[in-house]
Amino acid sequence: MSFAAIPSCCVRAVSGDLTVFGGPALTEEVAARIRAEQFNGVLRNTPWIMLAMIFNAAVLVASLWQSDSRNIVTAWAVFVIIPAAFVLAKSLRAKAQPKRPTASRRAMRVTATNAAVFGALWALVPILFLQSAPDQAKLIIATLCAGMMCAGAFALGSMPVAAIIFADLILGGSASALLRMGDPFYALFAALLFIFACSTARSAIDHATLLAERAIAQFEGDRQRDVIGSLLLEFETNATDFLWETDAAGRIKHASARLAALSGHPASELHGRSYQEVLVPGMPELAEAAATRAELALHLAERTAFRNIVAPVTLGGCVHWWALTGKPVHGADGTFLGFRGFGADVTEVRVADAKIRRMALYDSLTDLPNRAWFGNELEQATRRLAEGGAPFAVMCLDLDHFKSVNDTQGHPTGDALLVEVARRPSACIGEAGMIARLGGDEFGVVQTQGVSLEATSELAKRMNEALSTETLIDGVNVATGVSIGIAIAPTDGAEVAVLLKHADLALYRAKAEGRGGFRFFEPGMDAKAKERRALEIDLRSALPNGELMLVYQPLIDLGDDEIKCCEALLRWNHPVRGLVQPMDFIPLAEETGLIQPIGEWVIREACRAASGWPEHIGIAVNLSAVQFHSPGIVAAVQRALEETGLKPERLELEVTETVLIAEMDRALAILNTLRQMKVRIALDDFGTGYSSLSYLRKLPFDKIKIDRSFVRDLATHAESQAIVGALIGLAGDLGVSVTAEGVETQDQLAHLRASGCEEAQGFLISKPQSATGIAAFIAQSLVRRRSAA
Ligand code: C2E
Ligand code: CA
Ligand code: CA
Repeated sequence: MSFAAIPSCCVRAVSGDLTVFGGPALTEEVAARIRAEQFNGVLRNTPWIMLAMIFNAAVLVASLWQSDSRNIVTAWAVFVIIPAAFVLAKSLRAKAQPKRPTASRRAMRVTATNAAVFGALWALVPILFLQSAPDQAKLIIATLCAGMMCAGAFALGSMPVAAIIFADLILGGSASALLRMGDPFYALFAALLFIFACSTARSAIDHATLLAERAIAQFEGDRQRDVIGSLLLEFETNATDFLWETDAAGRIKHASARLAALSGHPASELHGRSYQEVLVPGMPELAEAAATRAELALHLAERTAFRNIVAPVTLGGCVHWWALTGKPVHGADGTFLGFRGFGADVTEVRVADAKIRRMALYDSLTDLPNRAWFGNELEQATRRLAEGGAPFAVMCLDLDHFKSVNDTQGHPTGDALLVEVARRPSACIGEAGMIARLGGDEFGVVQTQGVSLEATSELAKRMNEALSTETLIDGVNVATGVSIGIAIAPTDGAEVAVLLKHADLALYRAKAEGRGGFRFFEPGMDAKAKERRALEIDLRSALPNGELMLVYQPLIDLGDDEIKCCEALLRWNHPVRGLVQPMDFIPLAEETGLIQPIGEWVIREACRAASGWPEHIGIAVNLSAVQFHSPGIVAAVQRALEETGLKPERLELEVTETVLIAEMDRALAILNTLRQMKVRIALDDFGTGYSSLSYLRKLPFDKIKIDRSFVRDLATHAESQAIVGALIGLAGDLGVSVTAEGVETQDQLAHLRASGCEEAQGFLISKPQSATGIAAFIAQSLVRRRSAA
C-alpha cells in the first residue's frame, strides 16, 4: 500500500523511533529514512547550540565571578564547555560528510542521551545558583535557562524525544529552584516556564510528524521513480520499442537511443526534425503509406491521442512497419507542449501475420488456394445465385495413379508431381473461375463464368488433356491422368454441401468407369454411392471373417487335352448378399487399399491349393495393377512360395497391360525380378487394351491370354480369325505360349485348334470350381490319362 495514504495525524515521532498509530507498521527501510531526516535536522543545528552553550556558560561564569559560587560555577562550566566543544567538533566533522540516507536507532539513542546530559547540566544552574545569586545575576540565570530551553527545543525539534528531555530537565530544575524561592512572583515565572516548555514540546512533535510524512512521501516518490526508471530502461533497451517526444510545432524533442539506432542517425541529429521525417521516414509504395500518414497528421493537428497506427516506413531501402502510439502533453496551465509516445518495429510480427493469413488461405505445397478459400468461394457463389445470380459449376478433380506414385516413388516425387500438375488446370480455367487444392491429390474448381453443359464439358476436357500426359520428375517419366466429377448449381443443388457431395459422386463414377474421364452428376448416383459405402464397410471385415474363397478354372493343353494349369478366381461369400463376383468388389478393394492384404491372401491360398495337386499342374493367380505396383509384391510372392513349398515354375502371375501404363520402367523391373525367381508371367485379356503386336516383342511374358471377346467372334468374324492367327504365329516366333479364354463352343475350340493355339480355358472345358471340386476334376483327368495310357 502507498504510505501517502496514511493520514498525517497517525504519524507520530516518539522516543526517537517512529510509531504509526492505527496505521500499518512501517518497514525498517522507511523507519531508518525517517530517523535519518530527524538526525540530520539535529545535526544541522548542533554546532550553533553548542556554541551557544559555550558562550552562555562563559556568560554565567562571568556573572557569578564575584559571588561565593565562583568555584562551583567554574567547575560546572568545565563540565559543560569540554563536552560541548567535543560535540561541536564532532558535529562539524559530521556536517562535512555527505548526508546520511539512513540512521540507526543507536544514533538516535546517543543523541537523546547527549540532550539529557546537557539538559541535566543546565537544570543544575537554577538549582545551584539561583537562590544565592545577586539580583542582577538572578535575571541572567532566568534568561539563560529560558533561552537554553527555547534554543535547545528548537535545535532538537526534529527529534521530539531529545527536545522534550532537554527542555523538561531545564524546566524541572528551574521550576524547583523558582518554587523554592517562596515568592509568588517566582511561582508565576515557573508556571510561565511550564507553558513555554509544553508549547515547545508540542511544536517539536508537530515538526517531527511533518518531517516523517515528508520522508515517507519522498520514499514513495523515490520508489516510484525507481520503478519508472527501471521500466523505462527496460523499454529503451527492449529489442523493438522506442520513445519519442515532439514540441508544440511537431518537431522531435526527444528520440530514444533505440529510435536513433533504428533510424540510423544519432539521437542529436534527430532533434529538431519534423515528426514525419523521424516517425514515418520514407514513403514506401504501399496503399497504407499515404493513409497512415494522413491519419497521423490528423491526430497531431487535432491534438488527439492515437494508438497503434501501423505505418510502413523505409529504412535502408527496405520497408519496415512501425506501430506508433502517442498522446498530447499539456503544461500545468493547460498549454499544449507537444506529443509524447512510443513506437515499435513490428515488421517481424507483420510478416508472420501475413504468412499466417496466407497459410490460412493457400496450400503451402502448390501455392493454390486451399480448401478454406474454396469453401468461401462456393459460399459466395451460392449467395449470388440466391440473389438471382448466374449458375455455376463445381468440379472435383482426383489424380489417377497418384497413390501408386507416392507409394512406389516416395513422397518427395509425389509432392513434385503435385506441384507440377497443379499449375496446369489454372491455365485452362483462366478468368472462368478458380481452382483450389482440397488435400492429397484432390482439387476443386468453381466455374462461375459462362457455365453451360457444353462450356463446362469443354473446360473439363481441356483440364483432362492438360493433365493426361507424362511428367518428367527427377529424370523419371511419371504418367498422370485426372478424373473429374461435376455438379452444376442450381440444377444439382443450391447448397455448398450438396453440390460438393454431388460433384464427389460424379467423380466416383468417373473413376469407376475407367480413369481419365469426367462425369456430370446424375440423380441415381447417390443411391449407388451409398451402396458402395455399405459394401466397403463389409469388405473390410470379409478377410478376417473368412468370407473370401477361391475357385479354380482349368486350362487344358489342346495337344493332349490334359490339364496344364488352373486359374484361381476370387469369390466373396457375403453373409447377406450371397456370392459376390470379383468385378463387383475388386475395384473397390483397389480404391480402398484392401487389395493388398486380400491379394496376398489369394497368392498364399492358391499356392497352398496347388501344392496338393500333381507336379505338372500349375496355378495361375491374377494380379491387379494397383496390387502389382504396391510395395512388397515381390516379397509377398516369395513368402507364399516358401510357406507352401510350391516350386516357382508352377506359379503363373496374370497381369494386364494396365500395369505397364504407369511407370513402364519400374513395371519391367518387377516383371524381370519375378521371372528371375522362375515365376511365369502371363499377359491377361490381350486385345482389350493398347495391345499391339510389336509391343509384345519387348516385354518379358511367358504367356499371352487372348481375351474372350476375340474367341466369341472367332466362328463369325474373319477379322478375329485373322488377329488370332497372327497372334499365335507371332507368339510361336517369340517362344511365348498362347491361351484362348472364354471358350464356350466346340466351334470356337475347333477354330483354335486349327490356328495352332496351344491352350484353352472356358466353360466348355469347365466352369470355375471349388477347391474340392477342382481336386476331383484333376483326379478324374488323371484316371482318364492312365486308362488311355
Ligand atoms: P479374368 O482374369 O479374365 O478371369 C477370367 C474370367 O472369365 C473369370 O470371371 C471366369 O469365370 C470367366 N470365364 C471363364 N471362362 C468363361 C467362359 O467360357 N465364358 C464366360 N462368359 N466367362 C468365362 P470371374 O471369375 O468373374 O473373374 C473376373 C475377373 O476378375 C477376372 O478376369 C480377373 O480379372 C478378376 N479376378 C478374379 N479373381 C481375381 C483375383 O484373385 N485377383 C485379382 N486381382 N483379380 C481377380
Ligand atoms: Ca485372368
Ligand atoms: Ca482374362
